[in-house]
Amino acid sequence: METLISAIIYAIVFLFGTAIGSFINCLVWREHNNMRVADGRSRCVHCGRQLRWYENIPIFSYLFLAGKCHTCHKKIPGYYLLTEFFTGVLFLFVFWLDLYYFHFSWRHLIGDLILLAFLVTIFVGDVLYRVIWPEVVWLGLVAGAAYNFFSHGASWRSMVLGFVIGGGFFLAQHLLSQGRWVGGGDVRLGAMMGVWLGWPVILVAIFAAYILGAIVAVPLLIFKKKNWSTAVPFGPFLAIATFWALNHGERVVNWYVGLLK
Ligand SMILES: [Zn+2]
Repeated sequence: METLISAIIYAIVFLFGTAIGSFINCLVWREHNNMRVADGRSRCVHCGRQLRWYENIPIFSYLFLAGKCHTCHKKIPGYYLLTEFFTGVLFLFVFWLDLYYFHFSWRHLIGDLILLAFLVTIFVGDVLYRVIWPEVVWLGLVAGAAYNFFSHGASWRSMVLGFVIGGGFFLAQHLLSQGRWVGGGDVRLGAMMGVWLGWPVILVAIFAAYILGAIVAVPLLIFKKKNWSTAVPFGPFLAIATFWALNHGERVVNWYVGLLK
């Protein structure tokens, strides 16, 4: 009985993730085409026909329609399926992590999932169109501030400092390299991370991202002789580090402060 209940809960979390993934696809598409986000029902990206409800079900519709529009028979972009599936998997993974490793609380889970939804949106937009849309990041920043304030009354000072340090760290590199190492999108993303994590946890996240990046990139650089700036995109490391720091950052800070005493 217990296994059945947990299987049902896991299935709900997965399906919820695929629904968010479906919304992210729609958001990315409308953002890319300069449409308003609240622009009525979903349409076929080719012929513009409004989709019926059964053509709008995450994953299932794509498979049921064999990846093609009913009317114009053109292919539905494959990333639609990928985003839906992987958002579902990520939601499941984060739920599982929170349950077994991060001392489960609804407060943590909700924060993790909101942040995850924004990071997936940023990731998909960046991979498909090489842009990090300011509107998405600013919205993520506001969501982070609201979440921190209402869920645990985080101090504004900590969030503003996080914003300045997170944004400033990447802004400095942006200016120093004249935009060659990091783009403007990364600067905004750094600021958003700073608001979510606050001061001083933002430092832990940046540090962790570089360690993680180095672990992956250094062997690539040595064995494949790749150029540092083209070898690996930094975004995924930032995303992973941000997640981890959201749950463990404070412990690391306390440990470090303990060392200094
Ligand atoms: Zn069509």
